[in-house]
Amino acid sequence: MQVITTVSAFRQTRAAFDTLGFVPTMGYLHEGHLSLIRQARAECPAVAVSIFVNPTQFGPREDFERYPRDMDRDLAMLEREAVDLVFAPTRAEMYPEGYGTYVVLPAADEVLEGAARPGHFRGVATVVCKLLNIVQPTRVYFGQKDAQQTVVVRQMVRDLNIPTTIVVLPTVREADGLAMSSRNTYLTPEERQVAPAIYRGLRAAKERYLAGERNAEALRQAVIAVLDAEPLLRPEYVSVADPITLRELERVGEQGALVSLAVRLGSVRLIDNVVLGASL
Ligand code: AMP
Repeated sequence: MQVITTVSAFRQTRAAFDTLGFVPTMGYLHEGHLSLIRQARAECPAVAVSIFVNPTQFGPREDFERYPRDMDRDLAMLEREAVDLVFAPTRAEMYPEGYGTYVVLPAADEVLEGAARPGHFRGVATVVCKLLNIVQPTRVYFGQKDAQQTVVVRQMVRDLNIPTTIVVLPTVREADGLAMSSRNTYLTPEERQVAPAIYRGLRAAKERYLAGERNAEALRQAVIAVLDAEPLLRPEYVSVADPITLRELERVGEQGALVSLAVRLGSVRLIDNVVLGASL
């Protein structure tokens, strides 16, 4: 496994590989990341993983500084997964003095995580665009956990003619249903006990949908009823949206729906989602 920290060295090393699978991450790896890496490993002769906590996707009052980091642990995990290339640039390598270009998808900023976190998707699209230019992967792997991110990246890759194939894989969960996330490590034991209510709420909506409910507000209320039973959970939004346009629905039709939410639990902000009658 080669660990590379500069763009120029990565380009040189990349030239020795033909087909390359790529998993972009912010590190502090867990089984969710590993599921993407294993799928890349199964589908591609060589696999690259990036580790970069991207400052431009964090708002001024968000958790960039305290985002968990453990490079030694991450590299040991990647070694065990037989990853070929690790790209772990510094902030100055990605955003040198005088950096001035950003990728903006205005529609993304109007809904869901884009509306809740101003500037977030500008940072995400910019760093993913840069990473795709640097790594030049044949296939790039993302998790459904960050549903709007997959929509944003698909649109950017299509609009900017970036030559890669996007693969989206299901959310990996703890045994009690909590979606794996690097941020789960911030939860106190008491908060951790409450956290499975997030997925219980989403499943309640899914069950109503499978029982025939198509009214979006009824599905939303099914989620909220479960969340409201836990005083420690403070919902930021609960959405039932078109899985392609991400616009709120009144009724779930042919297109299916993305049921997604953000909650605050103590000092932690968590997101999760389920897809009804469709895939991302
Ligand atoms: P992050 O390090 O949080 O930026 O995530 C890197 C990639 O891993 C993104 O494509 C995420 O959607 C994906 N990912 C994060 N958590 C999970 C999970 N629990 N299951 C599947 N994929 C995940």
